[in-house]
Amino acid sequence: MKAHDGMYIGGAWRPAAGTDTIAVVNPADEQVIAHVPAGTAEDVDAAVRAARAAFPAWAATTPAERAARLTALRDALAARQDEIARTVTAELGAPAQLAEQVHAGLPVLITGTYAEMVATYPFEEKVGNSTVLLEPVGVVGAITPWNYPLHQVVAKVAPALAAGCTVVLKPAEDTPLTARLFAEAVHEAGLPAGVFNLVTGLGPVAGQALAEHDGVDLVSFTGSTAVGRRIGALAGGAVKRVALELGGKSANVILPSADLPKAVRTGIANALSNAGQRCSALTRVLVHKDQYDEAVAIAAEAVAAYTPGDRLGPMVNAKQLQRVRGYIDQGVREGARLVVGGTEAPLDRGYYVSPTIFADVTPEMTIAQEEIFGPVISFLRYEDEEDALRIANGTVYGLAGAVWAGDETEAVAFARRMEAGQVDINGGRFNPLAPFGGYKQSGVGRELGAHGLAEYLHTKSLQF
Ligand code: NAP
Ligand code: MG
Repeated sequence: MKAHDGMYIGGAWRPAAGTDTIAVVNPADEQVIAHVPAGTAEDVDAAVRAARAAFPAWAATTPAERAARLTALRDALAARQDEIARTVTAELGAPAQLAEQVHAGLPVLITGTYAEMVATYPFEEKVGNSTVLLEPVGVVGAITPWNYPLHQVVAKVAPALAAGCTVVLKPAEDTPLTARLFAEAVHEAGLPAGVFNLVTGLGPVAGQALAEHDGVDLVSFTGSTAVGRRIGALAGGAVKRVALELGGKSANVILPSADLPKAVRTGIANALSNAGQRCSALTRVLVHKDQYDEAVAIAAEAVAAYTPGDRLGPMVNAKQLQRVRGYIDQGVREGARLVVGGTEAPLDRGYYVSPTIFADVTPEMTIAQEEIFGPVISFLRYEDEEDALRIANGTVYGLAGAVWAGDETEAVAFARRMEAGQVDINGGRFNPLAPFGGYKQSGVGRELGAHGLAEYLHTKSLQF
């Protein structure tokens, strides 16, 4: 057993309390690549105690000190970028280029934004005869999913540390190895012992113990709506802060004045990135009835470039593979037209799904309502703009969306009426400082940028 085969608690790698382990599987070839300890409530308790003990001193540091440590963390992540990319490829199956640029690169960028922001963030403001102090909430319990193994961790831990909070992280059982590399980077960056702690384990055991621990002041969760609902209920019962980043069913709305081929192709690239395992994937494409057949034809041609095993990675595990195939079968059963793709395995090994396009999808069909989390895209027809808006807003989700039109003003007018936390205008670029999060059942709270930092602060007003 290597020294770091245990949990990272109180600034050191320690053996887990129990002996159970979790097998980590490479979804590209279905081979077991490692085992990590399955943490229990006992490990979680030790980690929360370490985080509580570290909180007063970390909360009292100056923003400049925290900026220095976050800069060191960014540098440690940058120095390990190759190792991180290889690890994400091994446990998630992400294609090498995506792993390097997005899975390993984005967290360096995001950590850098907080290293910079914390130095100048207004932790004190004047309101009339009051001074309002923005203070760290306390100990954060962070529970993350597997789809972006490092980004999801950094999107919580970097702003929490910037705010002056301490953290206990329970990463997804499918991707714990990347989370360990993160803990090693934290250690190298010289963060004081207990400021960041890692407990690997199963959701219903370690995750649940963390969410309900009395010593946790704020639970930040990203994952499914089903688990998010439970965590929200637990937090509500204990009157503690909670942030939930849940599912999505985002619409790519192509208005008649848009550049149709560009809108379709850019939308497809978005929907198939990370093999469609993204909460903000644009999986519903809304096209005017007169342009519909042309749009579907463009899409069918565009997806041919996404070869499984090359540009398109596998589903993370066998269960997700079955889940995605189940949705494809359901789409066919409910009368949607399968244009390309389907449930047949494209390779003899690995949890791959071919890029799949459905046409003649109507808004009430299951594949147009539920989050599939795979490379499955539905094309829906609309009559006019009001119809497009009704369809776009007609799900329980409201995470993201896109609008395409001949000019920005027209696209923005439509975007203002969308129930979604983020909308890309005519293929707008990713902005690491833009708040990310959902309307409706897509969640509570925001991540990234200054809005993401504010989640980890509470306010105290002094009157003079
Ligand atoms: P999940 O079950 O909600 O898992 C997210 C995290 O919560 C994981 O760390 C998980 O641990 C943990 N967890 C599970 N049950 C818990 C409980 N009772 N108490 C506390 N923590 C718990 O999501 P998933 O199984 O990874 O994926 C299922 C579906 O969720 C996907 O198909 C997709 O629709 C959605 N999803 C959304 C996002 C997003 O970014 N919004 C990301 C991933 C998945 P384990 O890893 O041990 O389960
Ligand atoms: Mg799960």
